[in-house]
Amino acid sequence: MSKVEETTDTATIQTFCHGCQQDIKVTVPKAIVENADSYPVSHAHLHGDPAHVLILYVDRQYLIRGTELSDTVTVERPSENLPLNAMVLLRVPRRYRETAMVMLKLKQANAADVAAITGKSQNAESKYLGQLFRLGYFERTRINRFYQYSIPKSNC
Ligand SMILES: [Zn+2]
Repeated sequence: MSKVEETTDTATIQTFCHGCQQDIKVTVPKAIVENADSYPVSHAHLHGDPAHVLILYVDRQYLIRGTELSDTVTVERPSENLPLNAMVLLRVPRRYRETAMVMLKLKQANAADVAAITGKSQNAESKYLGQLFRLGYFERTRINRFYQYSIPKSNC
């Protein structure tokens, strides 16, 4: 499977997940794939109930060269969860607003994914994502060395 949909800055890839035994769609920032230093590029996708992570290995042509399943994930939730949608976006503090907009587009991402789209540094996005998480807009899961932030399903 390869690219099935694309926007100016994202591409959606379809692949089969052995965890839930079905085809899933994964949206990745194009800059992560097109500006990579080496291939394949790995991209983690959190989904399902119970939650699990499918790591995709994607080449320059958006073809999937392999997948790896991780079902030992712990989702961290803020004490109070706030919805995030286009209407709410205006209430998000201005310095985080671009980060929140990218999250609305991707639904889930790590700091590198967001930075690839906003053009800000990965450190800055990591800080903004952490602050938006503490404000209650996201859930997060640790995948390898990074946090994968996501918008709770019920709030999409
Ligand atoms: Zn799955």
